[in-house]
Amino acid sequence: MSNPDKQRILVVDDERLNRKVLSDLLKREHTVILAKSGEQALQRVDRDSGIDLILLDVMMPGMDGYEVLRHLKNNDKTREIPVIFITARNSTEDEERGLLLGAVDYVTKPFNPAIVMARVANHLGFVRHRKMLETLAGRDGLTEIANRRLLNETLDAEWERGHRNGKFLSLAMVDIDFFKPFNDNYGHTKGDQALKSVARVLSWSMRRSPDLVARYGGEEFVLLFPDTDSSGARAMAEKVRAAVEDLSILHDHSSVADHVTVSIGGATQVPYGKNPGILIEQADAMLYKAKRKGRNRVLWEGLAQ
Ligand code: GH3
Ligand code: MG
Ligand code: MG
Repeated sequence: MSNPDKQRILVVDDERLNRKVLSDLLKREHTVILAKSGEQALQRVDRDSGIDLILLDVMMPGMDGYEVLRHLKNNDKTREIPVIFITARNSTEDEERGLLLGAVDYVTKPFNPAIVMARVANHLGFVRHRKMLETLAGRDGLTEIANRRLLNETLDAEWERGHRNGKFLSLAMVDIDFFKPFNDNYGHTKGDQALKSVARVLSWSMRRSPDLVARYGGEEFVLLFPDTDSSGARAMAEKVRAAVEDLSILHDHSSVADHVTVSIGGATQVPYGKNPGILIEQADAMLYKAKRKGRNRVLWEGLAQ
């Protein structure tokens, strides 16, 4: 099993010995994943959204390193992954070409192990820093909407405020239907694009300023409606459900429609006591019911269907 605290490096080299040397060098402190060709490397990053850094050989049969880098830079999902070229080509023209294409660093073979390790550590440090800033800024890295941390803070604050003012607070849990088969059949890149589209449409549908849309995790989102009673919030949730349908994202492997749909469970309370999490639990229970009743629908705690 790989250690979740270790950062993940993809080493791409057509020569087994090079892969072994780099892997032996880096595997103590990092999780190392190997690819034998450019094609294999691109397949790997498509499936695996957790790659932190790529060490990329330039000269390989088939797709060379420059081409691999160009593909990575043309894809929203992989654009930010830092790439270090490791190559036997050591002319300044080659180095310039690699850096202009967007590689963050360049190491020539035969390399000095200590220098490779130091450069890798530097770039992984930047990656860690960037991810930390995203979390602190309250943004989800993929969809750019609020993350779970910001949701929790906002929920606590709105719960407090609702409690003080005796106002309703409503919360909805949104979950994409049959998203596993979507990923399994169309690939993770398409899956990520669908997640982004759904997130965008959720934000557009929720224009009132105190409302919040957050990514709760995976393919689940939370909508928070301060000062909104259950029938008002359910109407908003229904608008959101319909807006996702209107995206018409093809989904041949869903059992409820031929496009991507969401199920939504919601709950409303005048906040009381110290546990805002109760609202999430109730919404989640309603979501579960919405799934069992056939998906692509909104169910709200306390309201007749
Ligand atoms: P249900 O209708 O019951 O919700 O079924 P489901 O397949 O949507 O539910 P399940 O929880 O079994 O699967 C969720 C899937 O969502 C698992 C994974 O394939 C996908 N997923 C979760 N997070 C991400 C992500 O960040 N990117 C991509 N592409 N897929 C994700
Ligand atoms: Mg789910
Ligand atoms: Mg789902």
